[in-house]
Parts: sequence; C-alpha cells; structure tokens
Amino acid sequence: MRDWPLWTLRRPALCYWLLVDAAALATVVYAIVSSATPSPSEIARFAAIAGTAGAVIIGSSIYSHRIGETERNPWAAHLSYLTAGILALPPNLLVLLLFGPALHCLLEQRPETYRWVYTLSATALAVFVTRSLLGWTDPRANLLLMVIGATVLLALRAALISFGMKLRRPSSTFEENVGEPIDVVLGIVAVSIGGLMGCVTETNAVHALIAGPSLALLERAAQLPQWRRSAQHDAKTGLANAVHWDSRARYELAKGAERTRPMAVMLLDLDHFKRVNDEVGHLAGDAALAAISLLLRGTVRRGDLVGRFGGEEFVVLLPDATPDEAESVAERVRKAVAALRVPTMATDGKPHELHGLTVSIGVSCTTRFGYQLPDLLVAADAALLAAKAYGRNLVSMA
Ligand code: GH3
Ligand code: MG
Ligand code: MG
Repeated sequence: MRDWPLWTLRRPALCYWLLVDAAALATVVYAIVSSATPSPSEIARFAAIAGTAGAVIIGSSIYSHRIGETERNPWAAHLSYLTAGILALPPNLLVLLLFGPALHCLLEQRPETYRWVYTLSATALAVFVTRSLLGWTDPRANLLLMVIGATVLLALRAALISFGMKLRRPSSTFEENVGEPIDVVLGIVAVSIGGLMGCVTETNAVHALIAGPSLALLERAAQLPQWRRSAQHDAKTGLANAVHWDSRARYELAKGAERTRPMAVMLLDLDHFKRVNDEVGHLAGDAALAAISLLLRGTVRRGDLVGRFGGEEFVVLLPDATPDEAESVAERVRKAVAALRVPTMATDGKPHELHGLTVSIGVSCTTRFGYQLPDLLVAADAALLAAKAYGRNLVSMA
C-alpha cells in the first residue's frame, strides 16, 4: 500500500481525490442501507439491464482484442446502463450496477487503477446526485426532468473528473481533461440510450434487450476519437501528419486568399540528424524529434499550423504573417532549437543529454508566391536547400 502510485499525486490533488472517493463510498453505503429489499420485479429489471449491457461490453471487448484495438472510451457504455439503472432500479441495485466498471478495470488489468477508482467514484457521485434529483425512492420519468437529469449527470461527472485532473497536472488542457467534442457527443448518446433502456425496462424487464444493438453501436463509436486522432496525427510527435496538415493548410490558405491576408510557410529540416541516430541511437533520435515538436508548438502562435512533413522535416503555416514577421518567427525557432537540451538514453543504456542540435529553415510568403500550397512549398523547399548549402543552422527567405 505504501508504494501505491496514488501517493505520488500532488498534495491538493491527493486530498481532492481522496475526498471524492470517500464521498462516493459514503453515498454507496447510504444507498445500500436506505433501500428496502428489492422485489422480484426489480431483480428481474436489474438482471435484464446488467445482462444486456454485460453481454454487449464483453462481446465488444473480445472483438476489440481480436482485431488489435488498444484504446477506446470505455465509459460510454457504462454511463448508458447506469442511466437506465437510475430510472428503473432501487438505489441498492444501482450500487450493484457500479460493479460493472469495477469489474471492467479488474478484468482488463487497466494501468493506473487509482485513476480508474477515482473516475468510478466521480461517476457514482454524479449517478446518485442525479437519482436524488429524479426521486430517491421512486424516480419520476417525465421528459423535462429526464433532460435535466441527463445534463446534471454528464456535467457534474465531467466537472468532478476534470477538476481532479487539473489538480493532478496543472498544465493539462481543457480538452485533455474534459475530452474532445466527440467525447461529449458520445456521452449524450450514451445517456439517451440509457434513458430509453430505463423507460422500456420499467414496463417489462425483457424489453431491456431492445437497447442491445444501440449499445453495441455505441461501443464501436467509442473508438471514433482514437481513430480520428491516429488518422490525422503522427504517433511519434503528436503533430498533424502530412496529409492532415496539407488539407488544413489548403483550407486556411483559401480563407486567407479571400481576405488577401499575408501568410507564410516555413519548412524545417534538422541538420545532420543521421549522426544523432548513428552516434547516440534511434531512440535518442526519436526523443529529439518529440522534443523539437513540443518546442515548435510552444514557439509559434496558437493559430499557426504545425505538421510533420517527413522524417526529420517539419512544416508550419503562419496565417497573418508578413515576410518580416515570418522571418523573425523562423529565427526564434532556429535559436530555440540550438539551445535545446534533450535528456535521453544512449545505446549503452546510460543517460545522455542531447544538445547542439540545429535546424535549417526555408520560408516562403504569399506576398511573393501567391496562395497555392504547392507553389509555396516548392519555394520554401528551394530556400531550405539554399540554407543547407550556405552552411546549415540558418533561415533562408525565398
Ligand atoms: P542534412 O543536414 O543534410 O539534413 O543531414 P541529415 O542527416 O539530417 O539528412 P538526411 O535526409 O540524409 O537524413 C535524415 C535522417 O533522419 C535519416 C533518418 O535516419 C533520420 N530520421 C528520419 N525519420 C526518423 C525518425 O522517425 N526517427 C529517427 N530516430 N530518425 C529519423
Ligand atoms: Mg531531411
Ligand atoms: Mg536533415
């Protein structure tokens, strides 16, 4: 217990996480002691909801493993049947439903168990707050209350979790903590399916089966954010991949052309990068690429588009940049790369700090080459070659 990763949390995060866990535990205990022994029809409803959801989730997990999918949002399906439980089950059986996500964590041997426990606690709290809103012993299921309940469930859960994540890592972004818009949509779909499942189960337990196919589809849809990320981003650096960057750059250029805004393209190629791989190793090379990507994102402005063009080549579109501004951004990047130090591991397994990396940069501007991406890239590439020919670690304007 002493070596639990939980204790490595920063103190405010640790206090808050433990508080949420304790509040959830207290709520669960209250739910158990405050409910009467379930009737046979309530037990039948529980069996129908848990059986349908369990069969879908287990089937979907087996399929995911067989085709080698590693990541998906596992909470969408759990939220769905918990919503059904809020509407159709007494609080003590609702507690039993919470064993679903707990079992999921155990069976899949998910990493960071303490994080899963925390998410489960936040979910349990949101579930029981929603339940008390709809009626603790006998929930009312009119449309307006259900919409309010669904909103409270999703918003409270997101707020509890994202606040904890922010305390855990203050530099984390809103999107990392709350999820992308597609995650929010998945949450809404999950509670809608759960709402339908709860309503039909109240009239006849067996009707829970109707929700099976929708739940299966939800499980597939929960892969969407991961699919989109891997289709658009480069895994090693997290930057937009060449195809995605190309389409976004064309879109931005077309917008810029309408308003004749000055824009620029920056093409970067690391100098003598092969030497890093040959002398320190490919893993060190990869660490350098990741560090430079991070540096690039931090050095340019928010609206600038950074992409991985090829192996050790990067590309940036700078909307609203005159040639002078583009040149000074490129100089800033060049200097920052030269000052960069990357802690890494050499091939002999010993720690090694990479430094002295340099980059050559070619810059082309719409004021001279127009708004067609191929023209700008050809010009930036020619300028880059000139920077290499002049001795590297240079910015060259086309
Ligand atoms: P120059 O200054 O002329 O650009 O020299 P260079 O060695 O950087 O140029 P070259 O294009 O000959 O080599 C690029 C090297 O980048 C070759 C390859 O080993 C390395 N590289 C490309 N992609 C990756 C990658 O994803 N990881 C690692 N570690 N190395 C990569
Ligand atoms: Mg190259
Ligand atoms: Mg190179």
